[in-house]
Amino acid sequence: MDPAPPVPSPAADTRRPSSGRYSAWRLLREGLRGQLGWTRAWAKATPRPRYRVVIVGGGGHGLSTAFYLTSEFGITDVAVLEKGPLGLGNVGRNTTIVRSNYFQPANIRFYEYSLKLWEGLEATLNFNAMVSQRGTLNLFHTEAQRDLFTRRANQMRLLGVDAEAVTRTRVRELVPLVDLDNGRYPVLGGFLQPRGGTVRHDAVAWGYARAASERGVDIVEHCEVTGIRRTGGRVTGVETLRGFIGADLVCLAVAGHSSHLAAMAGVRLPIETHVLQAWVSESLKPVLDVVLTYGAGHFYVSQSDKGGLVFGGAIDGYNSYAQRGTLPMAEEVTAAAMTLLPGLARVKVLRQWGGIMDMSMDGSPIISGTPVAGLIVNGGWCYGGFKAIPAGGMTTAHLIAHGRPHPLAAHLDLGRFAAGRTVDERGVGPFPYAH
Ligand SMILES: Cc1cc2nc3c(=O)[nH]c(=O)nc-3n(C[C@H](O)[C@H](O)[C@H](O)COP(=O)(O)OP(=O)(O)OC[C@H]3O[C@@H](n4cnc5c(N)ncnc54)[C@H](O)[C@@H]3O)c2cc1C
Repeated sequence: MDPAPPVPSPAADTRRPSSGRYSAWRLLREGLRGQLGWTRAWAKATPRPRYRVVIVGGGGHGLSTAFYLTSEFGITDVAVLEKGPLGLGNVGRNTTIVRSNYFQPANIRFYEYSLKLWEGLEATLNFNAMVSQRGTLNLFHTEAQRDLFTRRANQMRLLGVDAEAVTRTRVRELVPLVDLDNGRYPVLGGFLQPRGGTVRHDAVAWGYARAASERGVDIVEHCEVTGIRRTGGRVTGVETLRGFIGADLVCLAVAGHSSHLAAMAGVRLPIETHVLQAWVSESLKPVLDVVLTYGAGHFYVSQSDKGGLVFGGAIDGYNSYAQRGTLPMAEEVTAAAMTLLPGLARVKVLRQWGGIMDMSMDGSPIISGTPVAGLIVNGGWCYGGFKAIPAGGMTTAHLIAHGRPHPLAAHLDLGRFAAGRTVDERGVGPFPYAH
């Protein structure tokens, strides 16, 4: 599988006007002169007829790939084509959790790399992304689950990643709201990753877009890709609602639309599309300062900086492209929440929504070339694509620039499915709804 020809790095393109450095001093200065000095964070580009690299999808992975192409590999002849306004896909719909407490060693290394990039992201982008390392706490409710979590924590520690076993007493200290002895699934303990936490999701899209645009990337909104043109076995560009755009290399970063877009180039991906839902409550005073995950059902919760409790659950079991919530899922997650946190029974839910998820067959993502030369896929993110945005962008940019996988993403190639080298993160087999 030939991902891409090596692309030489041109000199940095300095065509773009900058929106300037953001700082406390700038805030003060703009406050004193009537806020007149702020300019658009990213340029609204009109597409050119041809680019070296066209990235389809202005979500987290498309934008971060564009940014790292410019900042790490000096490739600035890049366009990001987004069918709607920027950041209204999953990047702006997720529950904002970042962590690296995975099970498979190769995945732990990949997600830990991402967590390290998150830790320096605000300085890298000069953008406040509200990175909050408040800790992620997974509860367990059976002895078998304790064994499984201990194995996962040990695996992480062997790789130098933070993971702590937590007693019932410590769970009570960390989250006084938890009903440890609830009738259905008493809490036996937990597993804490102190460096896990949350990041303001919209800010991630905006921060990467601003930084990429300043370095010369064309970010083209309202530019839906409707076809992929190939000559022989090589991609030559994309058909869009704004006309044909030629490209040496096309990278798909379209999350739940991955199989749809790949099919335009005649490629069948091992990805299914499902809806994942979330909702947020009215604002409360601070009641929860970790990300909390229930172990006896699919339910997790964190408190946003505005005070809303952000609830998430499992994907809908059937395939769908509908970006909306449903009552049965709200009932299922709420029932689990009430078992664990009965004190929240009277809290009102404000909004519920859904995002279109790209569920792979082994629960691990795909960053890979395809049988079509010049076509690269970044997708299959399942539940975990937000936390992966920095590493996903960096390793996809590496693949584009060098034509070979980044060592931390070499296990995420498409060829693994045919070769039987799947990276079954949860050990549940080839059932996307179960990952
Ligand atoms: C409710 C919910 C909760 C989640 N919680 C978490 C979490 O807590 N932590 C975590 O790590 N992950 C979480 N995720 C997963 C994570 O959000 C996604 O895996 C990740 O955002 C996907 O990558 P992306 O940001 O590039 O996708 P997106 O933001 O969806 O970007 C893809 C873009 O492609 C565009 N596009 C599609 N088709 C075309 C076309 N034909 N032409 C042009 N553009 C096109 C779309 O409009 C979209 O903007 C959650 C997801 C959901 C829905």
